[in-house]
Amino acid sequence: MSFESFGLHPDLMRAIAEVGYTSPTPIQSQAIPVVIEGKDVMGAAQTGTGKTAAFTLPILQRLMPHANSSASPARHPVRALILAPTRELADQISQNVTQYARHVPLRSTVVFGGVDMNPQTAALRSGIEILIATPGRLLDHVQQKTVSLSSVSVLVLDEADRMLDMGFLPDLQRIVNLLPKARQSLLFSATFSPEIRKLAKTFLDDHPVVIEVAARNAAAENVSQVVYVVDRAESKRAAVAHLVRSQGLRQVIVFTNTKIGASRLARELQREGIPADAIHGDKSQPERLATLERFKKGEVEVMVATDVAARGLDIAELPAVINFDLPYSPEDYVHRIGRTGRAGASGQAMSLMVAEDQRLLAEIEKMLRRSIPKESLRPQREPERAKSMPQEKRAPQDPIFSQPYQPKAADAVGQAPLVSGSTASAAPVKPAVSGRALPSGIRRAPRTVPALLGGKQKA
Ligand code: AMP
Repeated sequence: MSFESFGLHPDLMRAIAEVGYTSPTPIQSQAIPVVIEGKDVMGAAQTGTGKTAAFTLPILQRLMPHANSSASPARHPVRALILAPTRELADQISQNVTQYARHVPLRSTVVFGGVDMNPQTAALRSGIEILIATPGRLLDHVQQKTVSLSSVSVLVLDEADRMLDMGFLPDLQRIVNLLPKARQSLLFSATFSPEIRKLAKTFLDDHPVVIEVAARNAAAENVSQVVYVVDRAESKRAAVAHLVRSQGLRQVIVFTNTKIGASRLARELQREGIPADAIHGDKSQPERLATLERFKKGEVEVMVATDVAARGLDIAELPAVINFDLPYSPEDYVHRIGRTGRAGASGQAMSLMVAEDQRLLAEIEKMLRRSIPKESLRPQREPERAKSMPQEKRAPQDPIFSQPYQPKAADAVGQAPLVSGSTASAAPVKPAVSGRALPSGIRRAPRTVPALLGGKQKA
């Protein structure tokens, strides 16, 4: 299929050619004709599949009869409303809309929280046909009467699953009540959970066209996946630094499960001389956008991110992602690795795990319906002295590798202390050493891990 076959307006075709798209992605092939026809759509597709263009191009096409260059705001009512869960995704969609609409006199703007409302109000007052918004901030504008939604003829709920996860359902209901009943509605979600189906029943017409692009839950075919087993959580930072250095990664997102973890890891990597920064929900919007820009320019090489902050980030052909923590939900794993290998490029998804993560990994593998290759990351040299000692006198057996684990100064990050090796033997994972019972009356001295933890912290 080609873009020509959709019968898009020549000014849209010009923009498509200028951004360099030669052929539609699968979601575009399926969605564009259906949306042009005015049908409701329930689409299973995630960021990275080209879904933004899949709904934006046909919406622009449908709005073409309303395109005009009048200066009067009254001639530019909001006709299409695109709701997104996060500021970053909203901003990203807005940039795409601007790109695709560059040659047509249809105006768009984006509103999201965490920034001054006044410039948004000014943009809304000047009149815009396409409004991209996060739900909370949109309702703020509605309350202040700076926007009217009474002319909206197309509604898009993007990443609807995430909007539900983030508790936006009441806001969505309030917003939908403000829209005309006769409208086209499009809902996109990574998965069709029962909650999403319920949402679709409420917001879409009775027979939406269901579009599912080739089982993304099977995780992008062009992304190679590997799990690196490390001995304990404290080794993970060294492992990240090792992977970044040994593989010469210049643009990588590292995912953590917590905001605090993201900040801490970014700080520690910076201390190691790796240009890193963190992006998460506690950072202000300008800070997050500035970090993203620096990442895109290559000034920041490692961007440490939480799932919410990373949703919707559009970084073309990201070569690799690293899961510092395995995510709690397998869907998040698919989202994370979808950051790489985008629109046909190949990518690499590396995950770090410790023994305790076995359950999380099992859930991910169950959803993918395949196992992910495992390798060990372990100290390069086994201490000679330990080797010659009788087994019972050696340091406690490493829980994962069949050799004693003795962090040493040489293990310091930056000296490539870790080696990887294939580990059919790495699994099954046994309980951690720290949980072992000691003879009564003996208290375990806090174990200091000077090299891996920067010389101060206790394990
Ligand atoms: P999305 O899933 O909308 O976030 O898009 C992911 C990436 O794919 C973005 O960088 C788009 O610019 C790019 N993209 C979208 N459609 C195409 C296409 N037909 N050909 C090549 N790249 C595309």
